[in-house]
Amino acid sequence: MKPVYFFDEGDGKNKKLLGGKGAGLCEMTRLKLPVPPGFIITTEVCNHYYQNNKKLPKGLLAQVKKNIAKIEKKTGKKWNSKDNPLLVSVRSGAAISMPGMMDTILNLGINDVTVEGLAKQSNNPRFALDSYRRFIQLFGKVVFGVDDKKFDEVLETAKKNQAVQSDGALNEKSLRGIVSEYKKICEKYAGRPFPSDPFEQLELAIKAVFASWKGERAIVYREKNNITKDIADGTAVNVVTMVFGNMGNDSATGVVFTRNPGDGTKHIFGDYLLNAQGEDVVAGVRTPKPIDNMKVELPTSYKQLENTCNKLEKHFREPQDIEFTIEQGRFYLLQTRNGKMNAVSMVKTSVDMVKEKLINKDQALRRIQAEQLEQLLHKTIDQNKAKGFKQVTKGIAASPGAASGVVVFDVKKATTMGENGTKVILVREETKPEDVPAFFAAAGILTSRGGKTSHAAVVARGMGKPCIVGCSDLKIDYDNGKCVADGQTINEGDTITIDGSSGGIFLGEMPTIQPQITDDFKTILDWSQKIKKIGVRANADTPDAAKLARKYGAQGIGLCRTERMFNAKDRIGLFVDMIMAKTLDERNVVLEKLKQLQKSDFIEILKAMEGYTVTIRLLDPPLHEFLPNPEELANKIYKLEKENSTVGLEQTKTILNRARDLAEINPMMGHRGVRLGITYPEIYRMQIIAVFEATAELVKQKVDARPQIMIPQVSSVAELNHIKRIYDEIKSEMEQKYKQKLKIDFGTMLEVVRACLTAQELANTAEFFSFGTNDLTQATFSFSREDAEGKFLPEYLEKDLLEKSPFQSIDENGVGSLMKIGIAGGRKIKPKLEIGICGEHGGDPSSIKFCHKSGLSYVSASPHRIPIAIVAAAQAVLEKPQKTNKKAKKKAKKKSKKR
Ligand code: PEP
Ligand code: MG
Repeated sequence: MKPVYFFDEGDGKNKKLLGGKGAGLCEMTRLKLPVPPGFIITTEVCNHYYQNNKKLPKGLLAQVKKNIAKIEKKTGKKWNSKDNPLLVSVRSGAAISMPGMMDTILNLGINDVTVEGLAKQSNNPRFALDSYRRFIQLFGKVVFGVDDKKFDEVLETAKKNQAVQSDGALNEKSLRGIVSEYKKICEKYAGRPFPSDPFEQLELAIKAVFASWKGERAIVYREKNNITKDIADGTAVNVVTMVFGNMGNDSATGVVFTRNPGDGTKHIFGDYLLNAQGEDVVAGVRTPKPIDNMKVELPTSYKQLENTCNKLEKHFREPQDIEFTIEQGRFYLLQTRNGKMNAVSMVKTSVDMVKEKLINKDQALRRIQAEQLEQLLHKTIDQNKAKGFKQVTKGIAASPGAASGVVVFDVKKATTMGENGTKVILVREETKPEDVPAFFAAAGILTSRGGKTSHAAVVARGMGKPCIVGCSDLKIDYDNGKCVADGQTINEGDTITIDGSSGGIFLGEMPTIQPQITDDFKTILDWSQKIKKIGVRANADTPDAAKLARKYGAQGIGLCRTERMFNAKDRIGLFVDMIMAKTLDERNVVLEKLKQLQKSDFIEILKAMEGYTVTIRLLDPPLHEFLPNPEELANKIYKLEKENSTVGLEQTKTILNRARDLAEINPMMGHRGVRLGITYPEIYRMQIIAVFEATAELVKQKVDARPQIMIPQVSSVAELNHIKRIYDEIKSEMEQKYKQKLKIDFGTMLEVVRACLTAQELANTAEFFSFGTNDLTQATFSFSREDAEGKFLPEYLEKDLLEKSPFQSIDENGVGSLMKIGIAGGRKIKPKLEIGICGEHGGDPSSIKFCHKSGLSYVSASPHRIPIAIVAAAQAVLEKPQKTNKKAKKKAKKKSKKR
């Protein structure tokens, strides 16, 4: 294992070893771009550190020293020198960028001696002392865990004592005092002297960066973004020569994207700050200037920036996110990485880069994160109905989309409220990485400080959450739970709407409209449709859902859950009557009414999907699900009796008795699906007749209706045959009645383990299969699908017992194996058997890839996920087969031949 790579020893390819940032720095060094010299301690060392009780490997520090000497040689600066000191930054960097989730330390190497050297070197003692106090704060926070507040108090007192407003106005004397106070804070907190030896500082910093890989916010970020070990395993540590953007008015620092990450347009986008250090831009402490101003303020450097952007885009063939620093007129690149973009921008840049011949169509589709496309389906404010709403103020539009919610200033409160289902707008002066859990829970984020590349902006954009930053009019008073803008007070709990596309902040909940699919998005969907092999159908239960799904490109309905039609307000009463019927005759009367309703829905749905298959599943849930909860009923009876009221008393008692009769200990494995069809054949009869009648009427109208009837929860061919006989009877009755052949395929779900294992038998009867992976996952793990996610699954994920929730992404080894058995069994009997999937996994990109590889005929996903499914299906075709596997297979073949 080579633990340390100098920047000229690596390249951009091995991100897993060098981390994304390190690989980028190596690649830029190779391209002869102006990168300050430095080196990388690899992710392998990070893993070694964790495997060996948090100890650095033997010999690592010797390697580090060697590389520091190499930097000294390249820069002419000296480690721990009182004349020309070398200072470094120590930065985290995993294979995947996790903005702000791990730690970084700047100005390392500074101490009471080198600070004087820095003062001489820069000819600016104030600057040197300012760098020193920044270092102590950052080091104290990252290495010892000291709260920022402690340092802030000292800083505020010093400003008061010197009677100045800004940090920049503090004089040398004040700064010396601050340095000494800061050290005391650290020493008191850590119970040890503040380290002055730069190598000791470096060793502690390296360990702290490794530790931040397993920090709470990094773990949460990885979990929420599905960053598994095979994507990023440990962080690297980058040790880079410090360059200073705060050495006067010919110095600056900035963060830019080569294209606008909000809308994808081609122009340099971002902010910079004159006479400042990088952290000031990223943390959003000072509101930076738009990059266009740099054309006037620092024209030569702007030209260099422009050239660099072009060079990097041509090289990486991806829009880049660049950090730069100008030190006394000299331009340095500190980082480049593929720009994180929202979906609008991802789609636009994909189409544009194909037009510019930077990439081809396949590459354009591959670079899109299918999951991210959901953002394109975001709401915007309905301008036609916006008149009555007052715009309180405006900030910087940082992440598009409109969101309404109640104002909450406290991060923890926002997290709890959001997780409990309240729509919340998190309002803060600025945000920090530890606030990220609230981002997940909030509907939108609003900050009074920061620019387009501040923490709040970057994180929100990545998540596709509406966000406004830098709203300087907004004066927040955390203590009194209110904020004031333009004379208007907004109290915590008031409802506001933020428009992340325009920056507008409004009082009240504004009407919104559903998003439109842009031409660029259509182009991407068009390319994907042509490439994909697996079909994409929708899970849709209403005519509206069917229309929406078709608009999004669904080619059929893979699951129409008929019970959802009974849940509508005007129907549930009828369904309850059906359950409560005392005799078969009574039940049949109600069923006749229900049949008319189902039939009319089937007609509309089949019409909306004309020319495409619509798979209609017969009733699945247990009947008690349609009755009120027995506890509620008992309470109602108790109240009525207490009030001596007889209104509805008897009826409630009857319903309670029925609900108790029907109650089950384990309803998910109880009286549901085909079991209902066997014990209440009149219900399935009604549903089958409704499908036939709807079809016959449509055929008469020359509508190309293609329904299928699907039976849920089947575990044996005997069950399936039992229902098939009912189906056959009805089919011949209907064909006689309508005097025409009616083609309605009869098939089964595979969602019970036994069904997969006996698929060969089922295929003799079934004309198609569809995997119900929600129930199949439940059955395979013996995890209750209703309870697992709210109870123990989060802890399983946290403790790495599962990489992803199996209810979200197919568990390939377990559930996937059963699916393979089912597919093989079915196709053995009917080689062309249509087999689909209709569990929630049908809309999950990685599961779609698995389904494609397994030879399924189609996936079925909810309407809003159709575009995602289409793109993921195309990506499945474009995914390169794993070379190593092929090679290994070839080798194995050769070996077996030899034998
Ligand atoms: C399934 O089990 O995967 C399925 C689609 O059916 P439901 O979720 O309705 O049980
Ligand atoms: Mg099911």
